[in-house]
Amino acid sequence: MTKPIHVLLFYRYITIKNPEEFVLKHLKECRKLGVLGRILVAEEGINGSVCGTKEQTDKYKKILSTDKRFHGIVFKEEICKTHPFTKIAVKVKKEIVAFKKKVNLNNAGKRISPKEFLELYKKGEAGKDFIILDARNDYEYRFGRFKNAIHLNIKTFRQFPNAIKKLNGMENNKIVMYCTGGVRCEKASAYLREKGFKDVNQLDGGILNFGEQFRNSFWEGKCFVFDKRLITSIREERNNLTKCEICDKECDLCRNCRDFECDKLFVCCVECEKNMNGCCSKKCFDKFKKKCREKSFDNQGKRINNKLVEALIT
Ligand SMILES: [Zn+2]
Ligand SMILES: [Zn+2]
Repeated sequence: MTKPIHVLLFYRYITIKNPEEFVLKHLKECRKLGVLGRILVAEEGINGSVCGTKEQTDKYKKILSTDKRFHGIVFKEEICKTHPFTKIAVKVKKEIVAFKKKVNLNNAGKRISPKEFLELYKKGEAGKDFIILDARNDYEYRFGRFKNAIHLNIKTFRQFPNAIKKLNGMENNKIVMYCTGGVRCEKASAYLREKGFKDVNQLDGGILNFGEQFRNSFWEGKCFVFDKRLITSIREERNNLTKCEICDKECDLCRNCRDFECDKLFVCCVECEKNMNGCCSKKCFDKFKKKCREKSFDNQGKRINNKLVEALIT
């Protein structure tokens, strides 16, 4: 029997004076351990997801936490059957999540624990007594969200600063925002406060932290994640908000269109994926077939997947 795969998700905003140097050393350590994943390092901190067997990920946690800059770093942990990553990448970036606006992280919104978050929902009504703001991208919202959460219809996190126009008039409301693991909300909540929003809060550790503690509560659908899985369950029972875009059957599988130029992220069931050869539409399928005749595109699916993940996170 193959061993279950543990997936770690973690981040910390902390000054890393020489990210290049850190990356070289850290990549070596990861290779030695044999863990796979993606770790982004910037002068502002670290943001990563790493997978391996329990022994490997336990060792990884130890290695990272021994560095005093990462003492007490929180690891969100999930178990899955197959490797969500195919390689290990440790990269230097300008930001650990691209926001493209300077914010003072000391202004970040008040952290509220999953328990407090749950209490809020039990006592009041989202959208009336408080605002639940989904800080993620539109496709993530589409697959799953907290009950009555609002969102800003953004394609990337970089669009967040401009999109807050939609929150005009809510400056005095209690706003509770969330994202997958918390890393985006730290910046986004600081930005909102700097723009005059008075009562800004952030769900500590994001959806995944909440899901670890309170499954099945006020969460609807699935949670989008930035690895090969694309989707993870927060609730135990089947509960999909999405349908196959080709046959309309309830479905939570998604993939990128196999046509490299289209690259559309779409919901697609197993049968339709097979019938359409991984393409999102007849148009793309025909184009793909034509290209295949011209040239061999054996690796295209894999290439797209890596490209997608890169494009989404940076
Ligand atoms: Zn289908
Ligand atoms: Zn397409």
